[in-house]
Amino acid sequence: MDKSVLVLNNTYEAVHICSLRRAVVLVLKGVAVVEESTNVLIHSVNNQFQIPTVIRLLKYIYIPKKTIHLTRRNVLLRDKHICQYCGKEFATSDLTMDHIIPKASGGPTVWENVVTCCRRCNNRKGDKLPKEAGMKLIKKPEMPHKIIYLHIVRYIGRDMEKWKKYIFY
Ligand SMILES: [Zn+2]
Repeated sequence: MDKSVLVLNNTYEAVHICSLRRAVVLVLKGVAVVEESTNVLIHSVNNQFQIPTVIRLLKYIYIPKKTIHLTRRNVLLRDKHICQYCGKEFATSDLTMDHIIPKASGGPTVWENVVTCCRRCNNRKGDKLPKEAGMKLIKKPEMPHKIIYLHIVRYIGRDMEKWKKYIFY
């Protein structure tokens, strides 16, 4: 019983990964239902059922959003060390954190206003708005909690055929 089971909230949103043992307990307790399973049967004292690969909680659980500190390092991690203007990957030492709306123009230091930027693009942009510098972001920056979480779930579930429709959308 060492297989991982994907846990969905009652809204079908992937929220957790647990052990098969834990998943079986949740189902037997009536806390969760099986959404996807394999053809292999498991037997308990009173029941026999197929090994679950995806279960869904019957009650909605509120997942508090973990705060990830806004630091240059975390911004670079969020953006996977890719300059958000030219789209190229660089070493940490060649990257900086750019304020999309420059600090000088009152741009705040928030996840939505900072991006990873290479030296060359940073020099080109200076204290201008991307538009003024004739530059474009490759994607809109967001707070990373959800992105990083999904990233991990997708990595763990990369070979799980039955998880796919819940984690790749
Ligand atoms: Zn660049």
